[in-house]
Amino acid sequence: MATKNILIVPGDGIGQEVTAVGKKVLDAIAIKFGHTFHYDEALIGHVAIEATGEALPAESLQKMRQSDAVLFGAVGHPKYDNDPSAKVRPEQGLLKMRKELGLYANLRPIKLFDELLSASSIKPEILKGADILFFRELTGDIYFGEKGRKNDGDTAYDVAEYSKYEVERIGRKAFEAARTRKKKLCSVDKANVLETSRLWREVIQKLALEYPDVEVEHQFVDSTAMMLIKNPCRFDVVVTANLFGDILTDEASQIAGSMGMLASASIGDGTGVYEPIHGSAHDITGKGIANPLASILSAALLLDISFGMKEESELIISAVDQVLKQGFRTVDIADKSTKPEQILGTDAMGAAVLKFL
Ligand code: NAD
Repeated sequence: MATKNILIVPGDGIGQEVTAVGKKVLDAIAIKFGHTFHYDEALIGHVAIEATGEALPAESLQKMRQSDAVLFGAVGHPKYDNDPSAKVRPEQGLLKMRKELGLYANLRPIKLFDELLSASSIKPEILKGADILFFRELTGDIYFGEKGRKNDGDTAYDVAEYSKYEVERIGRKAFEAARTRKKKLCSVDKANVLETSRLWREVIQKLALEYPDVEVEHQFVDSTAMMLIKNPCRFDVVVTANLFGDILTDEASQIAGSMGMLASASIGDGTGVYEPIHGSAHDITGKGIANPLASILSAALLLDISFGMKEESELIISAVDQVLKQGFRTVDIADKSTKPEQILGTDAMGAAVLKFL
Protein backbone atom coordinates (compact mmCIF):
# COMPACT_ATOMS: atom_id res chain seq x y z
CA MET A 1 0.00 0.00 0.00
CA ALA A 2 1.56 3.24 -1.15
CA THR A 3 0.78 6.95 -0.93
CA LYS A 4 1.55 8.97 -4.06
CA ASN A 5 0.95 12.48 -5.41
CA ILE A 6 -0.31 12.50 -8.99
CA LEU A 7 -0.64 15.72 -10.96
CA ILE A 8 -3.40 15.76 -13.58
CA VAL A 9 -2.58 18.07 -16.51
CA PRO A 10 -5.40 17.71 -19.07
CA GLY A 11 -4.34 20.58 -21.37
CA ASP A 12 -6.53 21.29 -24.42
CA GLY A 13 -9.26 19.79 -26.58
CA ILE A 14 -9.87 16.09 -26.05
CA GLY A 15 -7.00 16.13 -23.54
CA GLN A 16 -9.63 17.29 -21.03
CA GLU A 17 -12.05 14.49 -21.94
CA VAL A 18 -9.66 11.53 -21.98
CA THR A 19 -7.60 12.53 -18.96
CA ALA A 20 -10.73 12.62 -16.80
CA VAL A 21 -11.26 8.96 -17.72
CA GLY A 22 -7.60 8.08 -17.06
CA LYS A 23 -7.94 9.57 -13.58
CA LYS A 24 -11.03 7.47 -12.83
CA VAL A 25 -9.05 4.36 -13.67
CA LEU A 26 -6.26 5.42 -11.28
CA ASP A 27 -8.95 5.94 -8.62
CA ALA A 28 -10.30 2.43 -9.17
CA ILE A 29 -6.79 0.96 -8.84
CA ALA A 30 -6.18 2.88 -5.61
CA ILE A 31 -9.37 1.45 -4.12
CA LYS A 32 -8.69 -2.09 -5.31
CA PHE A 33 -5.09 -2.22 -4.07
CA GLY A 34 -5.44 -0.01 -0.98
CA HIS A 35 -3.19 2.77 -2.27
CA THR A 36 -3.75 6.44 -1.52
CA PHE A 37 -3.38 8.72 -4.53
CA HIS A 38 -3.51 12.47 -3.85
CA TYR A 39 -4.38 14.53 -6.94
CA ASP A 40 -3.77 18.10 -7.95
CA GLU A 41 -4.39 19.80 -11.32
CA ALA A 42 -2.29 22.21 -13.40
CA LEU A 43 -2.71 24.24 -16.58
CA ILE A 44 -0.74 23.93 -19.81
CA GLY A 45 -1.24 24.89 -23.46
CA HIS A 46 -4.05 27.05 -24.81
CA VAL A 47 -6.03 26.94 -21.55
CA ALA A 48 -2.94 28.20 -19.71
CA ILE A 49 -2.36 30.99 -22.24
CA GLU A 50 -5.97 32.10 -21.87
CA ALA A 51 -5.71 32.13 -18.06
CA THR A 52 -2.18 33.46 -17.54
CA GLY A 53 -0.65 34.53 -20.87
CA GLU A 54 1.92 31.71 -20.63
CA ALA A 55 1.86 28.22 -22.16
CA LEU A 56 3.48 26.72 -19.04
CA PRO A 57 2.99 28.97 -16.02
CA ALA A 58 5.63 28.78 -13.24
CA GLU A 59 2.97 27.44 -10.86
CA SER A 60 2.27 24.45 -13.15
CA LEU A 61 5.97 23.68 -13.44
CA GLN A 62 6.41 23.83 -9.69
CA LYS A 63 3.48 21.45 -9.16
CA MET A 64 5.00 19.05 -11.72
CA ARG A 65 8.34 19.07 -9.93
CA GLN A 66 6.65 18.37 -6.59
CA SER A 67 4.51 15.48 -7.81
CA ASP A 68 5.47 11.80 -8.04
CA ALA A 69 4.10 11.51 -11.59
CA VAL A 70 2.10 13.52 -14.13
CA LEU A 71 -0.87 12.27 -16.14
CA PHE A 72 -0.97 14.57 -19.14
CA GLY A 73 -3.54 15.06 -21.92
CA ALA A 74 -2.59 17.11 -24.99
CA VAL A 75 -1.99 20.70 -26.06
CA GLY A 76 -3.00 22.57 -29.19
CA HIS A 77 -5.67 24.80 -30.63
CA PRO A 78 -6.61 25.57 -34.25
CA LYS A 79 -6.21 29.27 -33.54
CA TYR A 80 -2.42 28.80 -33.38
CA ASP A 81 -2.14 26.10 -36.07
CA ASN A 82 -3.34 28.66 -38.60
CA ASP A 83 -1.30 31.56 -37.26
CA PRO A 84 2.43 30.92 -37.67
CA SER A 85 3.20 34.41 -36.37
CA ALA A 86 1.70 33.82 -32.87
CA LYS A 87 4.48 34.48 -30.35
CA VAL A 88 3.03 32.42 -27.50
CA ARG A 89 1.93 28.94 -28.62
CA PRO A 90 0.48 25.92 -26.75
CA GLU A 91 3.29 23.60 -27.97
CA GLN A 92 5.84 25.83 -26.23
CA GLY A 93 4.34 24.61 -22.96
CA LEU A 94 4.99 21.00 -23.95
CA LEU A 95 8.57 21.63 -25.07
CA LYS A 96 9.31 23.69 -21.94
CA MET A 97 7.85 20.98 -19.70
CA ARG A 98 10.09 18.36 -21.32
CA LYS A 99 13.17 20.57 -21.09
CA GLU A 100 12.57 21.79 -17.52
CA LEU A 101 11.78 18.32 -16.14
CA GLY A 102 14.74 16.82 -18.03
CA LEU A 103 12.45 14.35 -19.81
CA TYR A 104 14.98 13.07 -22.29
CA ALA A 105 13.46 9.68 -23.11
CA ASN A 106 10.05 9.13 -24.66
CA LEU A 107 8.92 5.51 -24.50
CA ARG A 108 6.19 4.39 -26.83
CA PRO A 109 5.11 0.78 -26.62
CA ILE A 110 3.41 -0.22 -29.87
CA LYS A 111 1.48 -3.40 -29.33
CA LEU A 112 -1.57 -4.46 -31.20
CA PHE A 113 -4.44 -5.91 -29.22
CA ASP A 114 -5.43 -9.01 -31.25
CA GLU A 115 -9.04 -7.84 -31.39
CA LEU A 116 -7.96 -4.77 -33.35
CA LEU A 117 -6.14 -6.62 -36.12
CA SER A 118 -8.80 -5.55 -38.58
CA ALA A 119 -8.88 -1.92 -37.40
CA SER A 120 -5.44 -1.21 -38.85
CA SER A 121 -4.90 -0.21 -42.44
CA ILE A 122 -2.12 -2.82 -42.60
CA LYS A 123 -2.92 -6.45 -43.51
CA PRO A 124 -3.57 -8.64 -40.41
CA GLU A 125 -1.06 -11.32 -41.48
CA ILE A 126 1.71 -8.69 -41.55
CA LEU A 127 0.69 -7.18 -38.24
CA LYS A 128 0.07 -10.21 -36.08
CA GLY A 129 2.62 -10.41 -33.28
CA ALA A 130 3.99 -6.89 -33.76
CA ASP A 131 5.35 -5.60 -30.45
CA ILE A 132 7.77 -2.67 -30.61
CA LEU A 133 9.14 -0.44 -27.89
CA PHE A 134 10.30 2.93 -29.24
CA PHE A 135 12.78 5.14 -27.42
CA ARG A 136 12.59 8.62 -28.88
CA GLU A 137 15.13 11.19 -27.65
CA LEU A 138 13.15 14.17 -26.45
CA THR A 139 15.24 17.15 -25.46
CA GLY A 140 17.70 17.63 -28.31
CA ASP A 141 17.77 17.76 -32.12
CA ILE A 142 16.27 20.25 -34.51
CA TYR A 143 13.43 21.24 -32.14
CA PHE A 144 15.74 22.84 -29.62
CA GLY A 145 18.65 24.18 -31.72
CA GLU A 146 19.02 27.74 -32.95
CA LYS A 147 16.20 28.79 -35.26
CA GLY A 148 15.39 31.93 -37.13
CA ARG A 149 15.10 33.83 -40.38
CA LYS A 150 17.67 35.60 -42.48
CA ASN A 151 17.85 37.35 -45.85
CA ASP A 152 14.96 39.66 -44.89
CA GLY A 153 12.90 36.69 -43.77
CA ASP A 154 13.20 34.84 -47.09
CA THR A 155 15.35 32.06 -45.62
CA ALA A 156 14.58 30.07 -42.48
CA TYR A 157 16.79 27.71 -40.48
CA ASP A 158 16.51 25.21 -37.62
CA VAL A 159 19.76 23.81 -36.31
CA ALA A 160 19.97 20.16 -35.21
CA GLU A 161 22.42 19.47 -32.40
CA TYR A 162 23.32 16.46 -30.26
CA SER A 163 26.03 15.95 -27.67
CA LYS A 164 27.59 12.56 -26.92
CA TYR A 165 26.13 12.79 -23.42
CA GLU A 166 22.58 13.21 -24.75
CA VAL A 167 22.89 10.23 -27.08
CA GLU A 168 24.52 8.04 -24.46
CA ARG A 169 21.85 8.52 -21.79
CA ILE A 170 18.95 7.57 -24.09
CA GLY A 171 21.05 4.82 -25.66
CA ARG A 172 21.65 3.31 -22.24
CA LYS A 173 17.91 3.30 -21.43
CA ALA A 174 17.23 1.52 -24.73
CA PHE A 175 19.96 -1.10 -24.19
CA GLU A 176 18.67 -1.76 -20.67
CA ALA A 177 15.13 -2.25 -22.00
CA ALA A 178 16.39 -4.51 -24.82
CA ARG A 179 17.98 -6.71 -22.15
CA THR A 180 14.58 -7.30 -20.56
CA ARG A 181 12.95 -8.16 -23.91
CA LYS A 182 14.30 -9.98 -26.98
CA LYS A 183 17.84 -8.58 -26.63
CA LYS A 184 17.54 -6.86 -30.01
CA LEU A 185 18.09 -3.14 -30.53
CA CYS A 186 17.63 -1.18 -33.75
CA SER A 187 19.26 2.27 -33.74
CA VAL A 188 17.80 4.55 -36.39
CA ASP A 189 19.73 7.43 -37.93
CA LYS A 190 20.69 9.08 -41.20
CA ALA A 191 24.44 8.66 -40.80
CA ASN A 192 25.02 8.68 -44.56
CA VAL A 193 24.06 12.38 -44.65
CA LEU A 194 23.86 14.00 -41.22
CA GLU A 195 26.74 14.78 -38.86
CA THR A 196 24.45 14.51 -35.80
CA SER A 197 23.58 10.99 -37.01
CA ARG A 198 27.25 10.08 -37.40
CA LEU A 199 27.83 11.10 -33.77
CA TRP A 200 24.68 9.17 -32.80
CA ARG A 201 25.98 6.00 -34.46
CA GLU A 202 29.47 6.40 -32.98
CA VAL A 203 28.03 6.63 -29.45
CA ILE A 204 25.63 3.68 -29.89
CA GLN A 205 28.45 1.54 -31.35
CA LYS A 206 30.62 2.33 -28.33
CA LEU A 207 27.78 1.59 -25.89
CA ALA A 208 27.16 -1.74 -27.62
CA LEU A 209 30.52 -2.95 -26.28
CA GLU A 210 29.03 -2.71 -22.78
CA TYR A 211 26.00 -4.80 -23.79
CA PRO A 212 27.49 -7.78 -25.67
CA ASP A 213 24.31 -9.78 -24.99
CA VAL A 214 22.23 -7.31 -27.06
CA GLU A 215 22.24 -7.66 -30.84
CA VAL A 216 22.43 -4.15 -32.38
CA GLU A 217 21.59 -3.08 -35.89
CA HIS A 218 21.89 0.40 -37.36
CA GLN A 219 19.28 1.39 -39.87
CA PHE A 220 18.64 4.54 -41.89
CA VAL A 221 15.43 6.37 -41.08
CA ASP A 222 14.08 6.20 -44.63
CA SER A 223 14.38 2.43 -44.86
CA THR A 224 13.01 2.09 -41.31
CA ALA A 225 9.89 4.00 -42.37
CA MET A 226 9.41 1.47 -45.16
CA MET A 227 10.21 -1.62 -43.05
CA LEU A 228 7.78 -0.60 -40.30
CA ILE A 229 4.90 -1.08 -42.71
CA LYS A 230 6.38 -3.98 -44.67
CA ASN A 231 7.50 -6.11 -41.75
CA PRO A 232 6.79 -4.58 -38.32
CA CYS A 233 7.47 -7.87 -36.53
CA ARG A 234 11.19 -7.64 -37.28
CA PHE A 235 11.55 -4.80 -34.74
CA ASP A 236 11.71 -5.10 -30.98
CA VAL A 237 13.40 -2.12 -29.24
CA VAL A 238 14.06 0.90 -31.48
CA VAL A 239 16.04 3.97 -30.40
CA THR A 240 16.17 7.17 -32.39
CA ALA A 241 16.55 10.94 -32.35
CA ASN A 242 13.78 13.43 -31.63
CA LEU A 243 12.64 14.34 -35.16
CA PHE A 244 12.90 10.80 -36.59
CA GLY A 245 11.13 9.43 -33.53
CA ASP A 246 8.33 11.94 -33.82
CA ILE A 247 7.53 10.83 -37.35
CA LEU A 248 8.21 7.09 -37.02
CA THR A 249 6.07 6.68 -33.91
CA ASP A 250 3.08 8.34 -35.57
CA GLU A 251 3.58 6.03 -38.53
CA ALA A 252 3.83 3.07 -36.15
CA SER A 253 0.59 4.13 -34.47
CA GLN A 254 -1.16 2.60 -37.47
CA ILE A 255 0.16 -0.77 -36.33
CA ALA A 256 -1.94 -0.34 -33.19
CA GLY A 257 -5.00 0.59 -35.21
CA SER A 258 -5.44 4.18 -34.05
CA MET A 259 -3.67 7.08 -32.39
CA GLY A 260 -6.37 6.74 -29.75
CA MET A 261 -4.81 3.47 -28.55
CA LEU A 262 -1.25 4.55 -27.91
CA ALA A 263 0.25 5.63 -24.62
CA SER A 264 3.66 7.08 -23.97
CA ALA A 265 5.97 7.77 -21.06
CA SER A 266 8.43 10.64 -20.93
CA ILE A 267 11.10 10.00 -18.39
CA GLY A 268 14.32 11.51 -17.16
CA ASP A 269 15.89 11.70 -13.76
CA GLY A 270 12.91 13.32 -11.97
CA THR A 271 9.10 13.29 -12.33
CA GLY A 272 7.82 11.19 -15.25
CA VAL A 273 5.05 12.40 -17.56
CA TYR A 274 2.54 9.94 -19.06
CA GLU A 275 0.38 10.88 -22.02
CA PRO A 276 -1.47 9.59 -25.07
CA ILE A 277 0.51 10.12 -28.28
CA HIS A 278 -2.39 11.90 -29.94
CA GLY A 279 -2.96 15.64 -29.90
CA SER A 280 -5.92 17.78 -28.87
CA ALA A 281 -8.02 16.62 -31.87
CA HIS A 282 -10.23 19.68 -32.20
CA ASP A 283 -12.18 18.02 -35.00
CA ILE A 284 -13.83 15.79 -32.37
CA THR A 285 -13.55 17.91 -29.21
CA GLY A 286 -16.79 18.22 -27.25
CA LYS A 287 -18.49 15.41 -29.18
CA GLY A 288 -17.86 12.82 -26.46
CA ILE A 289 -16.44 10.32 -28.96
CA ALA A 290 -12.68 10.52 -28.26
CA ASN A 291 -11.08 7.18 -27.52
CA PRO A 292 -9.92 7.26 -23.88
CA LEU A 293 -7.91 4.02 -24.08
CA ALA A 294 -4.59 5.77 -24.77
CA SER A 295 -5.06 7.81 -21.61
CA ILE A 296 -6.07 4.70 -19.67
CA LEU A 297 -2.99 2.87 -20.98
CA SER A 298 -0.89 5.93 -20.06
CA ALA A 299 -2.16 5.55 -16.49
CA ALA A 300 -1.03 1.90 -16.65
CA LEU A 301 2.45 2.98 -17.81
CA LEU A 302 2.57 5.54 -15.00
CA LEU A 303 1.88 2.90 -12.38
CA ASP A 304 4.45 0.53 -13.86
CA ILE A 305 7.34 2.90 -14.57
CA SER A 306 7.05 5.63 -11.91
CA PHE A 307 5.60 3.57 -9.05
CA GLY A 308 6.84 0.05 -9.86
CA MET A 309 3.23 -1.22 -9.62
CA LYS A 310 3.43 -4.00 -12.20
CA GLU A 311 0.40 -5.96 -11.08
CA GLU A 312 -1.80 -2.87 -11.05
CA SER A 313 -0.55 -1.88 -14.49
CA GLU A 314 -1.15 -5.33 -15.96
CA LEU A 315 -4.66 -5.37 -14.54
CA ILE A 316 -5.51 -2.21 -16.47
CA ILE A 317 -4.09 -3.64 -19.70
CA SER A 318 -6.06 -6.83 -19.26
CA ALA A 319 -9.24 -4.82 -18.54
CA VAL A 320 -8.74 -2.98 -21.85
CA ASP A 321 -8.18 -6.30 -23.55
CA GLN A 322 -11.40 -7.71 -22.05
CA VAL A 323 -13.44 -4.72 -23.17
CA LEU A 324 -12.12 -5.10 -26.71
CA LYS A 325 -12.78 -8.86 -26.61
CA GLN A 326 -16.41 -8.07 -25.73
CA GLY A 327 -16.58 -6.16 -29.00
CA PHE A 328 -16.81 -2.66 -27.53
CA ARG A 329 -15.21 0.05 -29.66
CA THR A 330 -14.97 3.81 -29.91
CA VAL A 331 -15.65 5.16 -33.40
CA ASP A 332 -11.97 5.39 -34.39
CA ILE A 333 -11.38 1.65 -33.86
CA ALA A 334 -14.76 0.33 -34.99
CA ASP A 335 -15.04 -1.63 -38.21
CA LYS A 336 -17.75 -3.26 -40.33
CA SER A 337 -18.24 -6.06 -37.80
CA THR A 338 -18.95 -3.65 -34.90
CA LYS A 339 -22.63 -3.54 -34.03
CA PRO A 340 -24.06 -0.03 -33.48
CA GLU A 341 -24.78 -0.82 -29.80
CA GLN A 342 -21.12 -1.76 -29.29
CA ILE A 343 -19.89 1.68 -30.34
CA LEU A 344 -19.22 3.62 -27.16
CA GLY A 345 -18.47 7.25 -26.40
CA THR A 346 -15.57 8.43 -24.24
CA ASP A 347 -17.26 8.07 -20.86
CA ALA A 348 -19.04 4.81 -21.70
CA MET A 349 -15.75 3.25 -22.83
CA GLY A 350 -14.19 4.41 -19.54
CA ALA A 351 -17.11 2.87 -17.63
CA ALA A 352 -16.67 -0.43 -19.51
CA VAL A 353 -13.00 -0.60 -18.48
CA LEU A 354 -13.90 0.29 -14.88
CA LYS A 355 -16.44 -2.51 -14.84
CA PHE A 356 -13.71 -5.05 -15.67
CA LEU A 357 -11.37 -3.55 -13.08
P1 NAD B 1 -4.34 14.74 -33.41
O1 NAD B 1 -3.59 13.62 -32.81
O2 NAD B 1 -4.97 15.68 -32.45
O3 NAD B 1 -5.49 14.16 -34.36
C1 NAD B 1 -5.20 13.43 -35.54
C2 NAD B 1 -6.46 12.66 -35.98
O4 NAD B 1 -6.64 11.55 -35.10
C3 NAD B 1 -7.72 13.51 -35.88
O5 NAD B 1 -8.59 13.18 -36.94
C4 NAD B 1 -8.35 13.10 -34.57
O6 NAD B 1 -9.75 13.22 -34.52
C5 NAD B 1 -7.90 11.64 -34.45
N1 NAD B 1 -7.69 11.29 -33.04
C6 NAD B 1 -6.67 11.66 -32.26
N2 NAD B 1 -6.82 11.19 -31.03
C7 NAD B 1 -7.98 10.50 -31.02
C8 NAD B 1 -8.70 9.79 -30.02
N3 NAD B 1 -8.26 9.69 -28.74
N4 NAD B 1 -9.86 9.22 -30.35
C9 NAD B 1 -10.33 9.29 -31.61
N5 NAD B 1 -9.71 9.94 -32.60
C10 NAD B 1 -8.54 10.55 -32.31
O7 NAD B 1 -3.33 15.51 -34.36
P2 NAD B 1 -3.54 16.83 -35.24
O8 NAD B 1 -4.95 16.89 -35.75
O9 NAD B 1 -2.40 16.85 -36.18
O10 NAD B 1 -3.32 18.03 -34.23
C11 NAD B 1 -4.37 18.68 -33.49
C12 NAD B 1 -3.70 19.60 -32.47
O11 NAD B 1 -2.99 18.80 -31.50
C13 NAD B 1 -2.67 20.55 -33.06
O12 NAD B 1 -2.84 21.80 -32.44
C14 NAD B 1 -1.33 19.93 -32.72
O13 NAD B 1 -0.32 20.90 -32.59
C15 NAD B 1 -1.64 19.27 -31.39
N6 NAD B 1 -0.80 18.12 -31.04
C16 NAD B 1 -0.46 18.00 -29.74
C17 NAD B 1 0.25 16.88 -29.32
C18 NAD B 1 0.57 16.75 -27.86
O14 NAD B 1 0.03 17.49 -27.06
N7 NAD B 1 1.40 15.82 -27.46
C19 NAD B 1 0.60 15.88 -30.23
C20 NAD B 1 0.19 16.01 -31.57
C21 NAD B 1 -0.52 17.15 -31.96
